[in-house]
Formats: sequence, C-alpha cells, structure tokens
Amino acid sequence: MNAKLNITQTAALSALREAGRPLTAYEVLDVLRASRHSAAPPTAYRALGKLIELGLAHRLESVNAYVACCAEHEEAQPAFSICGDCGAVAELTDPTIGAGIAAIAAQGGFAPTKSVIELHGRCASCRGNA
Ligand SMILES: [Zn+2]
Ligand SMILES: [Zn+2]
Repeated sequence: MNAKLNITQTAALSALREAGRPLTAYEVLDVLRASRHSAAPPTAYRALGKLIELGLAHRLESVNAYVACCAEHEEAQPAFSICGDCGAVAELTDPTIGAGIAAIAAQGGFAPTKSVIELHGRCASCRGNA
C-alpha cells in the first residue's frame, strides 16, 4: 500500500478498488463509517481529493462519482467509457488522446488546463449478450 496515504485515504482507495464500479462520495463515506463512525462528508471528499492529487483515483464528472485509477498513464490524458446498462467503467489511455486535444485547442490559441473525456454507451459484454 502507498506509504503516502493515511488510514482514511487507504480505506477510500480500497473501497474504490473493491467496488469495481464508480462510487459516489457518499458511498465512499458509508465504507469509511464502517470503521470510523464519526466520518463526515468532508472526510470522504478530503480523502478522495488526496487520491486524485496522487493520481490513484479519478473523478468521473458526468456521473459525479469516483473510480480507482487502473492504468499507468502518468501525465497522459485518460478517457473513460461508461456503460449505461451495467455501469462498468473502463479507463482508456492513449498518448494520442491528449496530443490530439492539445493540437486542436492550440489551433484556436487556447491553452487548456484540464479536459474531461467520458464516453457513454454500452460495453462489450452488454453488447455481446444482447
Ligand atoms: Zn488513471
Ligand atoms: Zn455493460
């Protein structure tokens, strides 16, 4: 386990990893409360914020939930596919995604500080079983 994490952050990260789907901050809070009854929403938000800062988790803006990072992408822009049927989320990383966005933005003289790429649709297993 990551030595930079305190007990609460470690518990939040385990919750995200074990869930196998995006969790809202309140779902993470429920897990934290199992071991620390006094945990309040700011506790969950702080822990999640730290995990994001360390690159161990991501916030899915379009569904307002959090997932553990499951890729080695360093600074590269991650993209996420979110299945509308089963809720499965996959983290897609490819250096061309960020490079493509940077190039398009630069054409208009725009300097992006953040971009969010979240694809909604149906995952391979939901499509295959249809
Ligand atoms: Zn990631
Ligand atoms: Zn699915």
